Amino acid sequence: MNWYLKYRPKNIKELGLTSVRQTLTKLLAGPEFPHAFLLAGPRGLGKTSTARIIAQYVNCQAPQEVGVPCGQCSSCQLFKQKTVVDVVEMDAASNRSVDDIRQLRSAVGLAPSQLKYKVYIIDEAHMLTREAFNALLKTLEEPPSHVIFILATTEIQKVPETIKSRCQIIEYHLATIEELVQTLKRVAKGEKLEVTDKDLKLIAARARGSFRDAIKIIERLAEKNKLNSQLLNQLAQADNLIDQLFTALRERDIPQSVRLLDKLNETSYPARDLIYQLEQQLNHLLSNYQQFSPKELSYYQQLVRLLLEASTNFSEPISTYLSLKAAFLNLDEGKQSPNPRSEESKKETKISPPTKSLSKSKEEKKKINSHFTLQEVKKVWSELAKSSLELNHGLKNILEVAALTKVDGNIIHLSVAYSLQRDLLEKNNIRQWLEKKLGQLLKQEQVGLIVDVDTSLRKKQAEAVSKSQTAASRDSRLDILMF
Ligand SMILES: [Zn+2]
Repeated sequence: MNWYLKYRPKNIKELGLTSVRQTLTKLLAGPEFPHAFLLAGPRGLGKTSTARIIAQYVNCQAPQEVGVPCGQCSSCQLFKQKTVVDVVEMDAASNRSVDDIRQLRSAVGLAPSQLKYKVYIIDEAHMLTREAFNALLKTLEEPPSHVIFILATTEIQKVPETIKSRCQIIEYHLATIEELVQTLKRVAKGEKLEVTDKDLKLIAARARGSFRDAIKIIERLAEKNKLNSQLLNQLAQADNLIDQLFTALRERDIPQSVRLLDKLNETSYPARDLIYQLEQQLNHLLSNYQQFSPKELSYYQQLVRLLLEASTNFSEPISTYLSLKAAFLNLDEGKQSPNPRSEESKKETKISPPTKSLSKSKEEKKKINSHFTLQEVKKVWSELAKSSLELNHGLKNILEVAALTKVDGNIIHLSVAYSLQRDLLEKNNIRQWLEKKLGQLLKQEQVGLIVDVDTSLRKKQAEAVSKSQTAASRDSRLDILMF
């Protein structure tokens, strides 16, 4: 048996992704748990294992802990011997028609024959036809109490809203190096391998966020007796170069960055892995974004964007080093000559009369009250978002997913998903530009903007991201930071 199968997590505690582990532990703690789950995210992160663990756990007669089936009781035995008939795994890729779902619907009504709950695991759920989704929806609306549905998908954007809204969605993101190392440790312990934590970290860095790939790599190295060998030395060398490259990028030393890029290219280090590691390091760095000045932050945002752009070229690995180099050269250009556009907009702000404080007096507010409605703001919003590109690249995305909540006098209230986004909108030059542009679009002398953070928008935003990009190759936290 290959190691990936051998070391499949057998309970929630062994799941590699911290966020998934925590969410499921909460969901399964009480007597009332969801009867429809939607597991969404890239391949190789343990969605199928999760589905099987849920199926076994809810049927276990004597679980020891939340999410940990006992492994001994009669229903656990059925799972062990693979003789369980009340758990149906179907692949939507080959059972996608409305007839398949109708068949499923009629079977759903029958009571389970061995277990407490019947569990239907529908893999690649996005492959179902629209008619099949409609048929499934009827079952999801009122599932019998003895039935649990677990849908899994790599492309959540293709799953209809109506289905999503009836499921508990659990999102899988690419694993961090730390999460991969934890899983590799479990494997190394089980196989009694002699590897250091540093070796495991090097292996994890090559796995691009996939548990499956990480385990495959360590298995291959162990098979060929190559652990602790020259290969790991080479990886360590590359790792060292990547650290130097990251430092050079942080210091905006572009000539040095390009030199290091060439060195890495000479070692045939895969560009995809390089991008993944730079993304990881940036992700780590930006977790403490408060320590950076607005200027530094905008530089890092630019860097994140460039890396994400470069990683979309994964299908053409040969050109990726070149496109990275081109991206770095862009950074250099930005440093040498100040952006002419921003100069221009500075001048404009100087000429225009200083903006009066909007909350000056209530009387003044009343005078200018109800000059425009929320509806009118919504009408011009997409134009605002579009023209914001001239000022800042990340702004458009933020504006597009932000929620307009109300208009109060001439003040527009807006909610965004993350405080980082609010901070960006509240930066002086950006706020001034937005208020001025809104004034033009709404034909008003003065318009004010108040921005709050509404965490419920995060889900909506994550969906917007996965719609616009192939979710398979990204770290969702990076996507958010890019905005
Ligand atoms: Zn049990």
